Amino acid sequence: MNTSYWERETFLENYDLLVVGAGIAGLSTAIELKKRRPDFRVAVLERSWLSDGASSKNAGFACFGSLSEFVDDLKDMSFDEVVSLAVRRFQGIEKLVKDYSEERLLLEWNGGHELFFQEDEASFKECCAIVDRFNNAFESALNIRPYTVSAVQEFQGIKNLIGVISNKYEGGLNTGAMLNAMRERSVSQGVQVFSGVEVVNYSTSKNEVKVETSVGIWKAKRIAFCTSSFHSNLFEDLQMNAKRNQVIVTKPISDLKLNGTFHHQQGFNYFRNINGRILMGGMRHLFPATESTCVQGNTEEVVSALTNFLQHKIHATSAIEIDLAWSGILGVGKDERPVVKEVQEHVFVGARLGGIGVAIGSLIGEELAGLIDSSFSK
Ligand SMILES: Cc1cc2nc3c(=O)[nH]c(=O)nc-3n(C[C@H](O)[C@H](O)[C@H](O)COP(=O)(O)OP(=O)(O)OC[C@H]3O[C@@H](n4cnc5c(N)ncnc54)[C@H](O)[C@@H]3O)c2cc1C
Repeated sequence: MNTSYWERETFLENYDLLVVGAGIAGLSTAIELKKRRPDFRVAVLERSWLSDGASSKNAGFACFGSLSEFVDDLKDMSFDEVVSLAVRRFQGIEKLVKDYSEERLLLEWNGGHELFFQEDEASFKECCAIVDRFNNAFESALNIRPYTVSAVQEFQGIKNLIGVISNKYEGGLNTGAMLNAMRERSVSQGVQVFSGVEVVNYSTSKNEVKVETSVGIWKAKRIAFCTSSFHSNLFEDLQMNAKRNQVIVTKPISDLKLNGTFHHQQGFNYFRNINGRILMGGMRHLFPATESTCVQGNTEEVVSALTNFLQHKIHATSAIEIDLAWSGILGVGKDERPVVKEVQEHVFVGARLGGIGVAIGSLIGEELAGLIDSSFSK
C-alpha cells in the first residue's frame, strides 16, 4: 500500500466513528450521530461506487405490511410483536418524510393493494379472518384502520381475482431520489463518504478499532457495520442470511391503468407503475436454491417468471417488453426484525433490514446512533 503521511493523518485515522456500508442504514446512522455530536469525525466506507446491496436497487414501496405478510410473520412472532414491527415501519416512513419531504423523495400516496387470485384462496380466507384484529390494533397504536377488503373479480384492469385488500396509507417513492437526498445530507453535515473501500476485518483495543480495508488500515474510536448480510462471516451468531431479489422494468406501456403499489403472496411478489412502465420484483420464494445468495445477477428462470406473471396476470391487453433487469440483495434473519446492537465494546451492527429497509431504515439509523452516542458517555 503506497500510503502518504498526509493520507494517513488526514483520511485514515482519528475518526470518532467509521460506518461500513453506504446504504440506507449506514448513511442514516452517520447522519444521526452527526446530529447528536456535530464535532465528531465520522466517515462512511463503501466498497462499491454507490451502494451494492439493496438501497439503490429496491422498489421504493413506503409500506408497513400486507395482511398475508403479517399472517406469515405470525409463524415466528407473536401478534403483538408483528404489530409492533409494523408500527415501527409506519414511524420510519413518517421520519423519512419529516427528514427529507415528500417532494424530495418524489413520494406519492396512491395506496397499496394486495391481490388474491383463485390459487390464493386459502390465504385470502386467513387474511379476511384476521383483518379486524389488525385494524383494531392499528387503531389503538396509530389511530388508523388501514385495511379494507373487497371481494372483487376485477381491479384496475387486473382480472380473475377473488379479492383485494387495500391500504390507503401506503405510498411509493423514487429510490434514487431518496438515496441521493441521504448522500447529500451526509456530506452537508460533514460526513465523509468514501467509495471503493472494502472492509475486510477489524480488531479492537482499549481505546481504538483498527479496520483492515482494501486501501490500508483505518482507525476510529467506534465502528458500525451497516453491511446488511455481507459481513455474516464476522458476526456468525447474528444469523444473517443473504437473499437475492430480481427486478424487471418494462418499456413504457400506452394503455397502462395501474395506480398505487401492489403486493401478492406474502409480499414475495410486488409491482407498481413507474412513469407509465411496470416495475416488478420477486419470485424468489419459487427459486430458493438459486436465490439464497449474496451474488448480484439475473437468471433466465426468475426473469421469465416475472415477465409471465406480468403479461398473463396483470397486463394481458397488450404485449409488454422488458427494458431492464437487475437484482438486489436482502439481509434476512430468522424473523423480520432487524438487528440494532453493540456486539462488543466499540463495535456496533445495524443490519438484517430484509425487505422493509425503505420504511424502517432511517429509524434504525437513529436507534443505532443513539447506542453509539451513549457508549461515549459510559
Ligand atoms: C429488489 C428489492 C426491492 C425492495 N423493495 C423494498 C420496498 O419496496 N420497500 C422497502 O421498505 N424495502 C424494500 N427493500 C429492502 C430495502 O431496500 C433494504 O432493506 C435496505 O435497502 C437495506 O439497507 P441497508 O443499508 O441495510 O443495506 P444495503 O443497502 O445492502 O447496504 C449495505 C452496503 O454495504 C456495502 N458493503 C458490503 N460489504 C462491504 C464491505 N466489506 N466493505 C464496505 N462496504 C460493504 C454494500 O456495497 C452496500 O452498499 C427491497 C430490497 C430489494 C433487494
